Amino acid sequence: MSAEGTDYFFRKAARIMDVGERIETLLATPLREVKVQVSIELDSGEIRTFSGYRIQHDNSRGPMKGGLRYHPLVDHSEVVSLASLMTWKTAVANLPYGGAKGGVTCDPSQMSVKELERLTRKYVDQIQDLIGPTRDIPAPDVNTNPQVMAWIMDQYSRYHGHSPAVVTGKPLELYGSKGRDSATGRGLLYICREILRDLGLSVKGSRFAIQGFGNVGSHTARLLAEDGGLIVAVSDVHGAVKNPAGLDVPSLFDHVKRTGTVKGFGNGTACSQEEVLTADCEVLVPAALSDAITAQVAKEIRAKVVLEGANGPTAADADELLEQRGIFVVPDILANAGGVTVSYFEWVQNMQHLTWDEERVHAELEKIMKDAYERVAQISRARKVPLRTAAYILAIGRVGKATVLRGI
Ligand code: NAD
Repeated sequence: MSAEGTDYFFRKAARIMDVGERIETLLATPLREVKVQVSIELDSGEIRTFSGYRIQHDNSRGPMKGGLRYHPLVDHSEVVSLASLMTWKTAVANLPYGGAKGGVTCDPSQMSVKELERLTRKYVDQIQDLIGPTRDIPAPDVNTNPQVMAWIMDQYSRYHGHSPAVVTGKPLELYGSKGRDSATGRGLLYICREILRDLGLSVKGSRFAIQGFGNVGSHTARLLAEDGGLIVAVSDVHGAVKNPAGLDVPSLFDHVKRTGTVKGFGNGTACSQEEVLTADCEVLVPAALSDAITAQVAKEIRAKVVLEGANGPTAADADELLEQRGIFVVPDILANAGGVTVSYFEWVQNMQHLTWDEERVHAELEKIMKDAYERVAQISRARKVPLRTAAYILAIGRVGKATVLRGI
């Protein structure tokens, strides 16, 4: 997977801010990079060794925060890039955190639940002295889920005593937060309302195309539809479906529950996954893969707004093209910050040994997302830069100030 986007966007903003080469290097360089051997016994009795990573990028604003990814394409440079992205994302949302990321190069679709549990516990054995509620707090990412987070909490607690706040995205029955599951989609909805209002539009009556129907894509589709939006095209890894009059989203959910895919949904017509990206609509939500929007795709996008649900869905050259074409890109570090924000709420609840009701989670999330959007939009207007550059300027300013105030 690509690892160049974050560094490119960071350096572009840092140069506009004129932070100087030394501060630029300091902020670009991860604090700590750890690669570990994760050797387990498979169900067959065979010993298999996997590579695991935990990259801690920056802690000037607080404990480091970032997901754990299980995927065959996980490699060092991807984890470095995603760790840095987390530093900028937590700073845009003004959460008292730095950034980190973890990953294990493995294919969970080929592993049993027991093997995944052994893998997770062994990985925690290798990094338990580097993470912790006030040091570095992992969370779910691609192919890791609340069950994996429960194993992390349990394994870490064997070393350090009962520690629910060491990890977020846990099951509700085990110190998870209400509203965490849909938080990224809900954050996207709040940001979408803001940008459409600025463009003289509203979610109601606008048309949306969504790439990916997993955690982020499906909740985003549901919430946008509940707000009066028309979901005109969706895709997943198996296929895609479109309906210019708007798909019936509750029936689509039933179909996906039954078949495991959006493919074959009767209330629309089958189309290619590429057609979803170039659909005639007001807002395109890439919510699946990094680098899904290549320069070629960028030339053909018809949406007015690209709302980045995924991390790094737009390649650097595609981003330039979208800017030239006058298409607004709401960057990942702003648009999908709802997930880490509710992870923060989960950590706060765990540290205080109390629970919030769902209304409170939604209200606090809305406040943070609106405030982040407003600040980014202000910088964008004042400096006449796109929203992505404005978001990086906001984040670099916050991280840079904290770094200098603490003393280098
Ligand atoms: P997920 O695994 O739940 O869903 C991914 C979806 O993408 C699936 O529907 C899959 O079928 C689809 N997909 C895969 N390849 C595709 C292709 N070629 N074309 C179309 N669809 C394809 O993952 P998720 O948690 O929804 O995460 C998606 C993205 O959002 C990732 O980049 C992740 O890092 C990012 N993200 C997730 C969260 C979160 O809270 N889950 C928060 C912030 C960012």
